[in-house]
Amino acid sequence: MTENLPTVGFIGLGSMGSGMSRNLRAAGFPMVVNDLRREAAAELVAGGALWADSAAEVAANSDLVITMLPTPRHVSDAVQGADGILSGIPDGGTWIDMSTSVPDVADGVRAENAHRGLHILDAPVSGMSVGAANGMLQIFVGGDADDVDRLLPVFHAMGDPERVLHVGGHGAGYAVKLMINQLWFNHLIATAEVLSVGVKAGVDLEVLRRALIASPANSNFLENDVLSILDHGDYDEGFALVLACKDLGLSVDLARSVGVPYELSALVEQQYRRAKAMFGDRAGEMAPFRLYEDYAGAPLRRTPTEELAR
Ligand code: NAD
Repeated sequence: MTENLPTVGFIGLGSMGSGMSRNLRAAGFPMVVNDLRREAAAELVAGGALWADSAAEVAANSDLVITMLPTPRHVSDAVQGADGILSGIPDGGTWIDMSTSVPDVADGVRAENAHRGLHILDAPVSGMSVGAANGMLQIFVGGDADDVDRLLPVFHAMGDPERVLHVGGHGAGYAVKLMINQLWFNHLIATAEVLSVGVKAGVDLEVLRRALIASPANSNFLENDVLSILDHGDYDEGFALVLACKDLGLSVDLARSVGVPYELSALVEQQYRRAKAMFGDRAGEMAPFRLYEDYAGAPLRRTPTEELAR
């Protein structure tokens, strides 16, 4: 059953890449893997994946290579560095970057290697490590339609087939992912502001929240995501502030590179950086909400009455 499946090279077996690569292997893809931490590959290798000592070796021994790395610098190291993907990938080969990143590295690779006929796609994801582990990621793919069609079985092994979206040409996947995160973080700060001011002005927190939900100002954040804070004081340490700040920085970089003023989002980035300085790199992505709880003088926790909790 597996003989027709391409060999997938996978570089970056961290919180996300470990689950994604496990699901590719479970779907029957032969695999070649690499990470700076060899121990991260132990389970995959025990399950039949081959270990490669470098990114170049991964690329030379697979039909397509996936990178799932923290930042553009890590992606550049793995692709353009000594013993990087470019040293091993055959002409006409395929590289898919699934990291949350910006187009610069891939654009540079395309420009410098135009004669090699490489197929390059960006395909960042949403869904956290849980989605990576259970194969239910949302995937935003930027690249040529023929490549996306050819690679759908690979994406479907890692993501929810209903939510594997071809969002445009090269770089569109990176842009969609960064805009989703930016808007969500903007929602968080905006919600923290109005809830803390309303409560300070004497309105019951849950009465205020429900009034907002029933109004044109409603949002998914207000309706759902904020409840982990209001009910449990949970600021979601599953996604650390250090990564949230990385994404916001890239988002601001992207806005700067396309020349669009980004006043509101740039301010949100600064608030996130302030929260990181105050609460630490490992604090949860919703920790900036605490800044406003401090201004309000107390944690914002709801006490739903029977009527309100309908
Ligand atoms: P992580 O830090 O857990 O894992 C990254 C892995 O890459 C590590 O195992 C590290 O050793 C390895 N690595 C770094 N440089 C390397 C190199 N040059 N060669 C080989 N291996 C190298 O990061 P993560 O949480 O898996 O995130 C990966 C990407 O996915 C990031 O861009 C992140 O923003 C994005 N993302 C993360 C989440 C999440 O919930 N964690 C959700 C969506 C998207």
